[in-house]
Amino acid sequence: MSPDLVVPVGDLIVSPGKERPFAGTVAVSLDFGDSRVDGPMKVSGRVVGLIDAVEAELAVSATAHFTCTRCLTEWDGVVEVESKQYFRKLPDEDGYAIADDEIDVSGPARDELALALPATPLCREDCRGLCPTCGTDLNSEPCGGHGDDSDSPFATLKDLFDS
Ligand SMILES: [Zn+2]
Ligand SMILES: [Zn+2]
Repeated sequence: MSPDLVVPVGDLIVSPGKERPFAGTVAVSLDFGDSRVDGPMKVSGRVVGLIDAVEAELAVSATAHFTCTRCLTEWDGVVEVESKQYFRKLPDEDGYAIADDEIDVSGPARDELALALPATPLCREDCRGLCPTCGTDLNSEPCGGHGDDSDSPFATLKDLFDS
C-alpha cells in the first residue's frame, strides 16, 4: 500500500463536485497467462465528491513483460489503462469502500491493470511460431519440411493447446 494512493475523502463526501488530485507509485506482482508485471505501477487521477460517495478517475501504467504465446520471444511493453471507480461507505462487490474517511485507489488500479494484460500476447499478429516438430522459429527460418507454414494444422493445434 502506497501512502500517496490513500486519498482522504472526508471533506469530499459532504461537498459534491469538490475534487482532489492524487499520484503515486506502488509495486505490484501480477501474472496472467503469458503476461507478467513485477515492478512499479504508476497511478494518477482525481477523486470527485458525490453525495455520500466519491468517484475516482484513475490512469494506470506499468511495464509488463510478455512472452509470445507462439514463438516464446520475450519483450517488455508499457500497459496503460484508464478507469473510474465509485467508493461508498458500504463495500461494493469488489470490496472497495470508504474506510475511516479514506479510499485506497491502488486496489482498483491493480484490478484494471490485470484486466488490461493479454493472456496470449503475440510478438506480432502473424507470428508463425515454432515448428511443433523440431522447435525452429519459423519467423526467422523455414525448417526442413515439418509443415513450415502458418496455415499448417500443426500451428493451429499448437495455438489451441497454448490457449
Ligand atoms: Zn512470436
Ligand atoms: Zn521443423
